[in-house]
Amino acid sequence: RFISFEGIDGSGKSTQARLLAEALREGGSPVTLTREPGGSAGAEEIRRLLVEGAPDRWSPETEILLFTAARRDHVEKLIRPALEAGETVICDRFVDSTRVYQGTARADLRDMVDALHASMIGLEPDLTLVIDMNPEQALARGLARDSGEDRFEDMGAGFQHRLRRGFLDLAAANPDRCAVIDGMADPQTVAGRVRETLEARTGP
Ligand code: C5P
Repeated sequence: RFISFEGIDGSGKSTQARLLAEALREGGSPVTLTREPGGSAGAEEIRRLLVEGAPDRWSPETEILLFTAARRDHVEKLIRPALEAGETVICDRFVDSTRVYQGTARADLRDMVDALHASMIGLEPDLTLVIDMNPEQALARGLARDSGEDRFEDMGAGFQHRLRRGFLDLAAANPDRCAVIDGMADPQTVAGRVRETLEARTGP
């Protein structure tokens, strides 16, 4: 099975992806934990093209093509082989991030994201966990962490609110695949909510 974590920067989704991977491994399941953009050698190279350099280095159209190219390599080289080997794949961001980030920056390009995904990737997660958090709290966390890779921290809270809404709308439009988890609690509490949701949706 294929599980993705989504949410705004600083929402805690990376921590939750890791905690779920650890819990499932302790339970004896083989797990591949990975992330986007990146996750395979080629996709990590593309990630550097995306997160390094000036924010206006690429046009919005080119950016969507780069995210999709990275995802294609990641799916070919890592995700599909792991799924075929019977592993649980946990991915920190997947296509929903491109739908929401690039679709929020340019609403008119959202259809292009979906069309490229349908023709070039064609894989959706079995379950997508949206870790929901208010942007003020997330931004404070993100700044504290300061990986140097947050592309939107300078764009302020307005854009973050639109992204949050984008993830919530996407989850509401895809209720069979998506679940929203309240991320505004300590990590262990949120991890408990994640495991309960997973069990309710897919069994232990
Ligand atoms: O989640 P992570 O911190 O690895 O993402 C790196 C940066 O790329 C973040 O600033 C994130 O908001 C951004 N991003 C993006 N579009 C995506 C996925 C991530 O702009 N589709």
